[in-house]
Amino acid sequence: MCGLINRDLKVSEQLLNWIRPEIRELSAYHVPDAAGLIKLDAMENPYRLPETLLSAWQQGLAEIALNRYPDPAASELQKRLTEAMQVPEGKSIVLGNGSDELIQMLALAVAAEGRCIMSFEPGFVMYSMIARFAGMSYVGVPLASDFTLDMAQTRAAIERHQPAVIFLAYPNNPTGNLFDAGAVEEIISLAPGLVVVDEAYHPFALSSFMSRLEAYDQLLVMRTVSKMGLAGLRLGLLCGNPALIEEINKVRLPYNINVLTQYTAGFVLENAGFLDGQAEMIRADRDHVYSQLALLEELEVFPSQANFILFRVKQGSATEVFAALRDQGVLIKNLDSPGPLQNCLRVTVGTPEENQAFMQALEQALRS
Ligand SMILES: *Cc1c(COP(=O)(O)O)cnc(C)c1O
Repeated sequence: MCGLINRDLKVSEQLLNWIRPEIRELSAYHVPDAAGLIKLDAMENPYRLPETLLSAWQQGLAEIALNRYPDPAASELQKRLTEAMQVPEGKSIVLGNGSDELIQMLALAVAAEGRCIMSFEPGFVMYSMIARFAGMSYVGVPLASDFTLDMAQTRAAIERHQPAVIFLAYPNNPTGNLFDAGAVEEIISLAPGLVVVDEAYHPFALSSFMSRLEAYDQLLVMRTVSKMGLAGLRLGLLCGNPALIEEINKVRLPYNINVLTQYTAGFVLENAGFLDGQAEMIRADRDHVYSQLALLEELEVFPSQANFILFRVKQGSATEVFAALRDQGVLIKNLDSPGPLQNCLRVTVGTPEENQAFMQALEQALRS
């Protein structure tokens, strides 16, 4: 019987029972098909590598030895990133295949019976998902109704749950606001364990905890190249105290940053001037889209220091508005679900043309 292919697509319950119940309960992270649509759902930078850099980049690509493993420490790239991100002297970094992988490495490094990961709700979904993957519990402290930190609740939750790691997205996703720096600093001081300030949207916020690394051993600052224009590369970095970074580095899989990413990220950082220009344009376009949205009385619009804007449809259904936008060829993110994000949608800032197409489709959707 060996070698016979089992054509029964169903697998026995007995086999499935080996998968942990908390994993079976999850639904896989869903990425919608954006084919043929104006893609304003995933906080990507709408601009590509400038034409003028293409041939130099391609020339370097052709010289890469694809038959060899990458430099396991990516030392050259580490050096470039340390400079580019202004990591303070005496602090270390570890690189991840996107910052998602760094969140996973942290969870694996701290996971133990009875320990939890804490963050804020509404917040970035990967913190809670990865806590589960690692077999940890997750505590989501509710933000106030204006999405600022509720410090009374936060103090009580830290005291009660003694989290191994607290994640703070700065600015926050999906709300777009920047938490009060003094409140964040108080959380760092109160934390019994590690605190990660996730600065994925740093190019659009221009406010950072990087220099505070010198003041707090328990603080880690996380950055990514995704939102600044290199989402396809999958590269993030975690910065902090060398002794802590060394421990986290032990759970990193060897060669997690491939040769193409190491080369391309290095190349882009060497020619990084254009990225600042793109971020500046996106910040100005964000403010422009914000003021246009704010003119629509059907909406409540939330201030943003990131490259996206959260808004609520005050009358009618956000899910219907989302569908009407998609029918007109514009894909944004539907966050509508019972709770603090009821009737909320999130739009990523695109090119001026894309933003205009979005605004036109939105006005059409609201009026139909
Ligand atoms: C997008 C995002 C990330 C993920 O970044 P990658 O480096 O692409 O994995 C991390 N944190 C927050 C808050 C994000 O919004």
